[in-house]
Amino acid sequence: MKGYEAMTDIRQRLQRAIDEQKSSLLAILQQLVAFQTVSPPARNTADIQAYVKQQMEQAGFAAKQQPFYEQDALVSGKLTGADAINHRSLLLNGHVDVAALTDLDKWATDPFQLVQQDDQLYGRGVSDMKGAVACFLYLFQLLKQLDIHLPGDLLFQSVVGEEAGEAGTKTLLAQGETADFAVVGDTSNLAFQGQGGVVTGWITLKSPHTYHDGNRVNMMRAGGGLKAASMVEKMPVVIEALQKLEHYWAVTKQYPGFPAGTNTINPAYIEGGIHPAFVANECRLWITVHFYPDETIDGVTHEIEAAVTAAAKADPWLKDMLPTFSWGGDSMLVDKGEIFPPLAIDKTLPAVLLLKQSHQRQLGVQPAINMSTSVSDGGWFDFYHIPAVTYGPGEMEQAHSDNEMVRMSQLLDYTKIIADFVLNWCAQPK
Ligand SMILES: [Zn+2]
Repeated sequence: MKGYEAMTDIRQRLQRAIDEQKSSLLAILQQLVAFQTVSPPARNTADIQAYVKQQMEQAGFAAKQQPFYEQDALVSGKLTGADAINHRSLLLNGHVDVAALTDLDKWATDPFQLVQQDDQLYGRGVSDMKGAVACFLYLFQLLKQLDIHLPGDLLFQSVVGEEAGEAGTKTLLAQGETADFAVVGDTSNLAFQGQGGVVTGWITLKSPHTYHDGNRVNMMRAGGGLKAASMVEKMPVVIEALQKLEHYWAVTKQYPGFPAGTNTINPAYIEGGIHPAFVANECRLWITVHFYPDETIDGVTHEIEAAVTAAAKADPWLKDMLPTFSWGGDSMLVDKGEIFPPLAIDKTLPAVLLLKQSHQRQLGVQPAINMSTSVSDGGWFDFYHIPAVTYGPGEMEQAHSDNEMVRMSQLLDYTKIIADFVLNWCAQPK
C-alpha cells in the first residue's frame, strides 16, 4: 500500500509540474522549430541533434550522437532504470527532420519561428513531429528536476531521414537498440495507429542491342526481318500486368481498418530511351507498392515479379529479354528507393492496455485504434520484433501543410499521458 501511495504522489507531482512549467515545453519547441531541418534536401540535422543530445544528458541520459549522412546525425540514449533487470523498458522514438516547404507564400508566419495564437502553435514540424519530440524532452527534464527514478530503462531515439525514406530508425534498431515496448510519437492525433507497408521498386526493360532510329522500319514493316523492339513501346505490357494484379489484390485481399483496395501498385515515374536518333534500348518504371500488415515485402514483390514475368513471357518480343527488378533502398535521395515495413497493433498486449488506461485517465475517452493512411518509422519496430504503436499529437491534415499547427492543450495532454504511461510501464516487473 505504501508503494501505491508513493506512486500516486509521484504521479500527481509530475502532472502538476507539467502544467506549471509549460513555458519550458514552449521554449524547447521554439528551439526545435528554429533549426531548419527541411528534407529534402536534408543534410542539415547535425546542430539540432547536438541540441537534443545536450537536453538528454542534462536529464541524466547516457546519449550518443553518430553520423548518418553528411551533416545528418542520429542520437539515441538511455536513462538507466534503478532495477532495470527486473522491470520493463520503454523506447520513445521521434524524427527531427521536417517536410519540405512547397507553398512558402501561403504561410502567414515565419515557418521557423514558433508563433502562438491562443491554443494554436504554428511552425514547420510542430505536428510532424517536433511537437512530440518537445514533449519527450520536456518530460525527461521534469523527471530529473523532480528526482523521479524509474525502475525500468527509458530509451529515446531522435532520428532523421523519415521524410525522405531514409532508414534512421532502422539503423539504430539494426545496431541492437531494443526495449520491451516502443512508442513512435509521429502525427496520429492521439490515436493508436498501425500501418500498412510500402516498398518501392524499379522494373527495367533492356534490349540486348541498341539500334539507330533508321532501323525502325525493319522492326515494324511486314517482311522487315529485324526482331527488335522499342523498350518504351513495350513498357505498357508491364503496366497492364501491374494493373491486373492491383485489381486482383483489391478484390481478394483485405485487412481490418483499411478500406478495400488500399493495397495499390502505383506506376509513379518512367524514364527511357537515349534520344530521337535511337530506338529506345531501355525503359525503367518506378513503382510504389502498398501492402497490408499481414503481408511481407518478399511476398508481395514475388507476386509482382511472377505476374510481370508471365506477361513478358507471353509477349513474342519480350520473352527473350525478360524484365529485371530492383526493390527498396535505404534512401529516396541517394539510391531512389525506400521501404516502410507494416506495423500491426496487438490490442491485447499489456503495454497497449496500460497506454490505453493512461490515455483514458487523462482524456476520459478510449483512444481510437486504427490504421494510418500514411507510413512512418513505426514499421521498423515490428520488423525487429519490438511491440510498438504510433501515437502522437498533431493532425494528419497539418503534417506537411502550409501554416502547420498543433494545439498547446494537446501537447500538454500528450505529455501527461506519456508521463503516466512511463511511470506505470517502467514499474512493471518482468
Ligand atoms: Zn512524421
